[in-house]
Amino acid sequence: MAAKGSSSVFNLKNSVHLGGNDHLYHIGLLQTDDLETRFHDIKYVCMGGKADRMKEFAEYMYVKLGKPENCEFETVNGTKVLRDVGKSAGRYSFFKVGPVVSVSHGIGTASLSVVLHEVLKLLYYAKCKNDVEFFRVGTSGGLGLEPGAIVVTKQSYDSQLFPLFSQVHCGEVVKLECRTDEKLRNALQDAANRAKVPVLIGNTMSTDDFFEGQARTDGAFCDYSEEDKINFLRKAHDEHGIKNIEMESLCFTAMCTRANVKCAVACVTVVNRLEHDDVTADGSLLQTWQENLYKMMAEYIEWHEKISTK
Ligand code: URA
Repeated sequence: MAAKGSSSVFNLKNSVHLGGNDHLYHIGLLQTDDLETRFHDIKYVCMGGKADRMKEFAEYMYVKLGKPENCEFETVNGTKVLRDVGKSAGRYSFFKVGPVVSVSHGIGTASLSVVLHEVLKLLYYAKCKNDVEFFRVGTSGGLGLEPGAIVVTKQSYDSQLFPLFSQVHCGEVVKLECRTDEKLRNALQDAANRAKVPVLIGNTMSTDDFFEGQARTDGAFCDYSEEDKINFLRKAHDEHGIKNIEMESLCFTAMCTRANVKCAVACVTVVNRLEHDDVTADGSLLQTWQENLYKMMAEYIEWHEKISTK
């Protein structure tokens, strides 16, 4: 981890083609929108699937960070509230709260990659420091775990159980490494323990769809048996240490590895897939599990802010 004041400016390998008059179209920002003044102090990028959850997380962090001034605000009916910067573009929610941005990424790789490209470019245009940390906090199906457990991903695998992300460019497939940061993984586990929420570190399978890619039998189509499903899930668990399944960690960790930024993925499990396919937990239980993720992240960020300003 870079010592206080030692980090340099955030860079991107595509700096040759970037610059001038870029439009971060899906988050509703122009390069000319005074990005450096508004966003140069970002240190933590936190991403999750749903727009309203990321708003909730932003509001939670606003209180936890002591209502900092360096947020993006708007006034609604005479009251100052956090502003959804991405609202005008209509695709993703995007809140800035002190050093944290809380951004939704929608479902799956296609949706995630669009917003992550634009967030990385924003950090570059805003001249953020190069030690910004990236987190995906989301939901997943567990393998053999009591629902509610948070899995911090060590290595992400694709739906054929390969630990590489396939990026297609100009009609060709390029296989990309997907790394998570060991110190961040351990620090998140410690933060979850301090916050007294159930956590473990394990591998994650990241698929292109919720149904067949995750070996569910309850989609609109199913050309395999219950036995095929269980055999595959058991193989993933026993031979590859897969503890949970979701749809974004492979692309997320590949893009962060490529951008040379530290990243971690922490997903709460909402169903035990060795028992059934459908998510049966009620709304209030799902909310409690979601709040456990917020507690862990807040604990981590508070701790990290303390040690990096010492
Ligand atoms: N998200 C997924 O991708 N799969 C699940 O089973 C639950 C949440």
